[in-house]
Amino acid sequence: MSNTQIQKIVIVGGGTAGWISAAALAKLLPPSISVTLIESDSIATVGVGEATIPQIRRLNGMLGLNENTFLKATKGTIKLGIEFSNWGKIGESYLHTFGDVGLNLSNLQFHHYWKRAQEEGKQSSLWDYSLHHKVAYSNKFDRLERIGKTGMTGLSYAFHFDAGLYARFLRNFAETSGVTRIEGFVKQTVLNPHTGFIDHVKLENGTQIEGDLFIDCSGFRGLLIDKALGVSYQDWTHWLPCNRAIAVPSQSTRPLVPYTKSIAHTAGWQWCIPLQHRTGNGHVYSDQFMQDETALEVLLSNLDSTPIAEPNHIRFTTGRREKFWHKNCISIGLSSGFLEPLESTSIHLIQSNISRLIELLPTKKMEPANSNEYNRQVSKEYELIRDFIILHYHCTQREDSDFWRYCKNMDIPDSLKQKLELFSATGRIHKEPEDLFREASWVQVMIGQGLIPQSYHAMADRLSTDQLEKFLADIDAIIAQAEAQLPSHEDFLTRNCQLD
Ligand code: FAD
Repeated sequence: MSNTQIQKIVIVGGGTAGWISAAALAKLLPPSISVTLIESDSIATVGVGEATIPQIRRLNGMLGLNENTFLKATKGTIKLGIEFSNWGKIGESYLHTFGDVGLNLSNLQFHHYWKRAQEEGKQSSLWDYSLHHKVAYSNKFDRLERIGKTGMTGLSYAFHFDAGLYARFLRNFAETSGVTRIEGFVKQTVLNPHTGFIDHVKLENGTQIEGDLFIDCSGFRGLLIDKALGVSYQDWTHWLPCNRAIAVPSQSTRPLVPYTKSIAHTAGWQWCIPLQHRTGNGHVYSDQFMQDETALEVLLSNLDSTPIAEPNHIRFTTGRREKFWHKNCISIGLSSGFLEPLESTSIHLIQSNISRLIELLPTKKMEPANSNEYNRQVSKEYELIRDFIILHYHCTQREDSDFWRYCKNMDIPDSLKQKLELFSATGRIHKEPEDLFREASWVQVMIGQGLIPQSYHAMADRLSTDQLEKFLADIDAIIAQAEAQLPSHEDFLTRNCQLD
């Protein structure tokens, strides 16, 4: 073994970011590299982060976790997408599903055929051709990779889970895989005076913990990356103005719907996440446009069930670290940035960043080429997700409050402007290879928010009117047949993870 290989990795923070990082490193790195995680019982984790996107199944697969065991341990439910209500217009809603809509024919996206049918007078919604939509609103679910030999993909899904139980589950996994956990409060980060690299962290009880590589998972505090190394933060509040959240759990309600609800209010939006044992709720808003007391009233008056804990007030600034990896420190989780929880992307960013770090694992020389490449990739991923989230706020017909007037009229990044112009004129999506969100996601959100393209691709005219009719009717029939065979979401959970 070469003695230039790193030997000691130290993670500061035991929230979702810390434990995902620890679990992945312990699973994938050789035992010659020790992984130590420090967390303080006196500092609570942020305690939210309960909705995910389908990429989490890759993380589970990589760790070798059994999905049913995971669902049972975290009191989880299935998520097929997010229902956005009052976003485009008050009183309207749409479902951003994780799946395709319809069937792409001759490599042409389905919505072009749908648009042509609309122009020929057919009165149907895009979601009439979505399996996910039909299944979600009939509260059904089962694992379904594809629908027979029809060429249509089956159900793409993610999970809702209890954040506290998830961290405990991962901790158990990581400790069993060899991670050392130290309970203690990090009081000081000591830098090497010559290189400026982190040499060790010092705990309140005087213990010193040295490492070759430090991962900052200390949450919004950014204990290492910010407080010790002074890496600045790019503030994106002008594009993503929400900067406050109030979270409150409430009693569980039945039926358990297999989707997250996102309800827009006058200065932000409210989430509703169904778990087996409770419902997660929260109001995300901007304090420039709404006072905290009003925000709490809005949240409490829109709950579906009785609250079961005191509200938790959280402050944040949307944006990202200028550099995610600086010297021998990598920030992962909330210490690296926050794009607000609208599309449940934070946990995904944790997993994609730890995978990236493992791919670009440095030696003790801390080659700048690794950190430069890491910073380039993460910046790009952040920016693409940022644009997708801004889309929800900006592409709206709402002008009923100062907040919505601001969002509708604000300047947006050029990258998003170009996407909107292209889609509006032609129905096409400019998809970048690094984009986490698929074309089908962009299409659903744009059309759902009321942006209907002015034209469709000429290839859609290759079908005769009768062929188009039949194509749409066939999709409808395939979806109805597939949906009819599925059990209810609750039956699925009862069968697979003993839902009470
Ligand atoms: P934290 O949970 O804050 O953990 C920080 C850790 O650092 C703690 O263990 C703490 O003890 C430790 N620590 C801090 N200082 C010290 C010290 N001095 N010494 C020792 N230990 C220390 N993400 C999603 O993917 N889906 C969602 O639906 C979602 N919803 C969200 C809603 C809101 C309102 C917010 C704010 C975030 C949401 N997120 C969501 C993001 C998600 O919660 C976080 O990405 C995730 O929880 C990771 O947090 P973290 O581990 O970085 O930080």
